[in-house]
Amino acid sequence: MRSERASVVIVGSGMGGGTLAWGLAQRGIDTLVVERGRVLPREPQNWSPEAVFLERRYKPDETWLDDEGEPFHPGVHYVVGGNTKVYGSALPRFRERDFEQTAYPSGISPAWPFTYADIEPFYSQAEALYRVHGSTGDDPTEPWRSQPFPFPALPHEPYVEETERRLAAEGLHPSATPMGVDLRPGGTCARCQTCDGFPCRLGAKSDAETCALGPALSGGAVRLLTGARITRIEASQGRAVRLHGEVDGEPLVVEAGTFVISAGAANSAALLLASRSDEHPLGLANSSGLVGRNYMVHNNTHIATVDPRRRNDVVFQKTVCVNDFYNDLGDGYPGGSLQAIGKVQGSMMKSHATRAPRRLLDRIADRSMEWVVMSEDTPSVHNRVTVDSDGRIRVSWRRTNYDRHEALLSKVRQVLRKCGYSAIFEQRFSIDMNSHMCGTAVAGVDPATSVLDPWCRAHDLPNLLVVDSAFFPSSAAQNPALTIAAQALRVAAEVDWAEGSA
Ligand SMILES: Cc1cc2nc3c(=O)[nH]c(=O)nc-3n(C[C@H](O)[C@H](O)[C@H](O)COP(=O)(O)OP(=O)(O)OC[C@H]3O[C@@H](n4cnc5c(N)ncnc54)[C@H](O)[C@@H]3O)c2cc1C
Repeated sequence: MRSERASVVIVGSGMGGGTLAWGLAQRGIDTLVVERGRVLPREPQNWSPEAVFLERRYKPDETWLDDEGEPFHPGVHYVVGGNTKVYGSALPRFRERDFEQTAYPSGISPAWPFTYADIEPFYSQAEALYRVHGSTGDDPTEPWRSQPFPFPALPHEPYVEETERRLAAEGLHPSATPMGVDLRPGGTCARCQTCDGFPCRLGAKSDAETCALGPALSGGAVRLLTGARITRIEASQGRAVRLHGEVDGEPLVVEAGTFVISAGAANSAALLLASRSDEHPLGLANSSGLVGRNYMVHNNTHIATVDPRRRNDVVFQKTVCVNDFYNDLGDGYPGGSLQAIGKVQGSMMKSHATRAPRRLLDRIADRSMEWVVMSEDTPSVHNRVTVDSDGRIRVSWRRTNYDRHEALLSKVRQVLRKCGYSAIFEQRFSIDMNSHMCGTAVAGVDPATSVLDPWCRAHDLPNLLVVDSAFFPSSAAQNPALTIAAQALRVAAEVDWAEGSA
């Protein structure tokens, strides 16, 4: 049996865990990061659409079950850096309104237990850590900031610039998508077509391993154990006392003063639920009964918009977004965001359009521009992660607040048609496209209606924290990663980490 001990142990090295490790390293706190995956190798397949999308080279074989017991492949990556190794590195802040309650016609987006002003300094810190490139002044919904973006926005390529002009001619205010890549004099980013959804072969993507965990490890206070999967948290007399799992086929036990679970929204909830005992029959930190509930994923649709008269020769497409509909779709209710995504190639379309001939997909890709239309889903206690007796994750999920998504899609279609895109293909996100999952251990002030306090400490166990997207009380309609990172930095800075006192 292998035993480890540290002052603080973090389970998971993704956006939450990796960033927290960096924050603890700044304070010189003895920290062990336990990660079930290995370091993702830099290899030619990193940039192969066939290897990444068709062969799913970097995804686990694992399947989860839906409500009907049907298996599906979840959008998770069990590697050092977690999902950020393949993410699209769009790193926007949430807006001030996202931290307040919003009433939609068919749902409530609840208030967060802290305000935008509380987290704002940590947004600035996270933007510096993750090398965010952006600009101010164009986006009518941009929140106030105490620091400028650390780097100027990525310039648009001519095709995107022309689309931006057409959007502006329709009265919209397109703006630069805040992006985390190492594009600066002497930087490693080559502006390639294989960024969004791919691992970076050059280490130029601002992922959690490159920007946070790696630097944390070089400081000496933080250690990393890979290939180590945690399966149970043991608690006694109201405190977490040790973790159980396995490493390289050997049983593993980890003791610590403070335990942080950062395994991603579904796996963190599953771990808490699987840790039930006589003392904690509903699982750990679950006196509210809310662990695993309020699972959110965003209402997202990928659209490919085709203007047959314009060849799209763009290399790095993900530079423009439109937030005009974010706070008000024109009917007094928020709509959401529209964001260009990485240029989709014909071979990538094949993973979904399985029956379409590859030549046809290549022809479409030649003249298409791809986007994500993103709107907020609202929390529901019926949408939940549970765990079977054999540890398998089950997800019960029904779309919520979807009328807003339909309304936003309809507005977006209208606008893009006016911009010359006469054909629009849609792919609505299904249960397996859950890469923005959050909400399974919500933060709040009332232990009856939340799992964690405003600093991600479990209400029930003073030395147990959950620092990943699970804490989100609502999903907003912007990409989640910068907010996960900012909260991890806030938790690192403001919690008392003295042995066992967190
Ligand atoms: C293709 C793709 C594109 C995306 N694009 C964007 C984007 O452009 N912008 C954005 O903001 N977000 C994006 N996201 C989402 C973003 O990556 C996630 O929101 C973010 O990584 C979640 O952080 P996390 O800490 O909650 O979980 P993760 O980053 O997934 O980290 C969880 C970690 O825990 C480990 N782990 C899990 N279970 C255990 C266990 N039992 N024991 C030990 N270790 C464990 C995992 O291996 C993993 O390393 C994208 C995601 C994907 C997949």
